[in-house]
Amino acid sequence: MKKITIAIDGFSSCGKSTMAKDLARKIGYIYIDSGAMYRAVTLYSMENGIINQGNIDAEKLKQHISDIHISFKLNAETGKPETYLNDVNVEDRIRGMEVSSNVSPISAIDFVRVAMVAQQQEMGEAKGIVMDGRDIGTTVFPKAELKIFVTASPEIRAQRRYDELKAKGETADFEEILKNVKERDYIDQNREVSPLRMADDALLLDNSNLTHEQQSKWLYDQYHRVIESLK
Ligand code: C5P
Repeated sequence: MKKITIAIDGFSSCGKSTMAKDLARKIGYIYIDSGAMYRAVTLYSMENGIINQGNIDAEKLKQHISDIHISFKLNAETGKPETYLNDVNVEDRIRGMEVSSNVSPISAIDFVRVAMVAQQQEMGEAKGIVMDGRDIGTTVFPKAELKIFVTASPEIRAQRRYDELKAKGETADFEEILKNVKERDYIDQNREVSPLRMADDALLLDNSNLTHEQQSKWLYDQYHRVIESLK
């Protein structure tokens, strides 16, 4: 069967990755979480004195950017993909609040985006990929056969993120999370390079009131429709 490229973009914490992962598993495609890549660059910056109290030493990051290699490996036990930064598993560390607070300014830097987009395009060369992020349908894979743009209200997204952190046993403050969600929305939509916007040919999905199952079914139906149209 013909393989296609599936781009899923949208606001933070709106459940993009859950539905993207589900679809990839169902149809045997590779799943790539592009946000994890920007998070890994942020963690690298925090650990190498490039970010100090929110201040970014962009010159230093530029010198180091070619040393940052991100890959994904499937965890055999959980069956879930995990993020590796220079061959070290950083999956848990990139999900914490400190990385979340610093990731949007890092991902607004032009040379960071150039480096990540190049790695993402290489990963998708053979098609058969589901990638989620902010600029996948607009910049990374503008010719993707299926593009989805997902949204939900900031309060609902903050609540999901809060529940996720709590479920992991981490401390979480709803107001702080809501503030972070809104700040990231603002920076992501207003940055100069590849701002978050819906591609002209993307389908809009507001999942504020949908269950995981309903979203997954909707996405699978869209995939099926595109595949049928290519026959
Ligand atoms: O998807 P996630 O919320 O983990 O992404 C973290 C951050 O990485 C986003 O808030 C955004 O600033 C950035 N990002 C991006 N482009 C992408 C994916 C994520 O700028 N394709």
